[in-house]
Amino acid sequence: MYVFTPPAQASLAVAGSADRFPVRRIFCVGRNYAAHAREMGNDPDREAPFFFTKPADAALDTPCTVPYPPLTENLHYEIELVLAVGKGGSDIAEKDVLEHLWGASVGVDLTRRDLQAEAKKMGRPWDWAKAFDKSAPIAPIVPIEQVPSVETGRIWLAVNGETRQDADLSDLIWSVREHVSILSRAMELAAGDIIMTGTPAGVGAVTPGDVITGGVDGIGTLEVTIGARL
Ligand code: MN
Repeated sequence: MYVFTPPAQASLAVAGSADRFPVRRIFCVGRNYAAHAREMGNDPDREAPFFFTKPADAALDTPCTVPYPPLTENLHYEIELVLAVGKGGSDIAEKDVLEHLWGASVGVDLTRRDLQAEAKKMGRPWDWAKAFDKSAPIAPIVPIEQVPSVETGRIWLAVNGETRQDADLSDLIWSVREHVSILSRAMELAAGDIIMTGTPAGVGAVTPGDVITGGVDGIGTLEVTIGARL
């Protein structure tokens, strides 16, 4: 018996279906495209992949409106390929990674960049920069058998119709097979886990009223409107 009614299960829409994908955890990969690592002042050649997380209920369906969050004057978009884990496991071999995916999609890793810069400078955690409410708008999950590839394909983002990010999944420093295998050595992955795989160069700020569009060719598109300040 719970002391109060438990919150609803966090979930995301499934493309072409009324079913929902139950979200367990959201893992995100840092600096996974060389040009983005460079624009953030880092050397892409010397780093092992690293991860951070968002709470499951930061995920929300698109199209949506995300209120401009508190504590920031520099809210950034990051378009990302999204993986949806359907079969858990630890120490997953690179060759077996795709068998663990239920689906794939596209999402935006919304970031309070000023808080992230302060956290980096102070050696503090990134949670306040990355893990705020509604920080992970994600398009409907596409079942993996309908996904042409999670290894090649154009990934792009536009703000108010102007292209800001334009790259290819083949530009990933650590491929899907590589970084999911590495992640599964750190902790046991479970069905329902979401992995946001990193963003290409071209990140930047949005303000209330801006409309973000983006997509990964062959997988999906999204639209996110930035709402009024909370
Ligand atoms: Mn990101």
